[in-house]
Amino acid sequence: MAHPNRPLSPSLGGEGRVRGRVPLKTDLGFLIMEKSSEKKTKRKKEPKPLNRDKAKRYTCIVCPACCDLETDGTDVNGARCPKGEAFARQEVIMPLRLITTTVRCEISTGTKLLPVKTSFPVPLSRVPEMMRQIKALRLSEIPDIGTRLTTGSASEPVEWVVTGEVD
Ligand code: SF4
Repeated sequence: MAHPNRPLSPSLGGEGRVRGRVPLKTDLGFLIMEKSSEKKTKRKKEPKPLNRDKAKRYTCIVCPACCDLETDGTDVNGARCPKGEAFARQEVIMPLRLITTTVRCEISTGTKLLPVKTSFPVPLSRVPEMMRQIKALRLSEIPDIGTRLTTGSASEPVEWVVTGEVD
């Protein structure tokens, strides 16, 4: 460990500093690195002015960070990444969801539940109808992972992909 009074190696950023971080000496004499306030403030975006008549709030479900988003359909506040911004805009136009569920396989040893998901995000308003379709389906054998199954009518088919195996 570096001596508290000795500057850090220039290879760590020159002049005893790592870029974006400030070396601090604690009461115990150890050097610790703290992110500079300059770096922290860079990450925070100024909120954009939204059309208050159209503004809606959402919780982003794209990743576990669950950012609180607000959008008027054009500008988005609260997103930490472009995926969140795209999610918020899509929610305004037409919310989409990927369905993950199970399908019944009725085989000689009994009924097994096989994990499946829709092969593409589907309109949120159609999720109950699609769930009824997949719950009504009965397979007589266990398909391999990646097998495509189809439910629904010929004009509005829904494609499902087998994502797992039965125990
Ligand atoms: S905005 Fe980005 S970081 Fe935040 S929850 Fe959505 S995907 Fe995750």
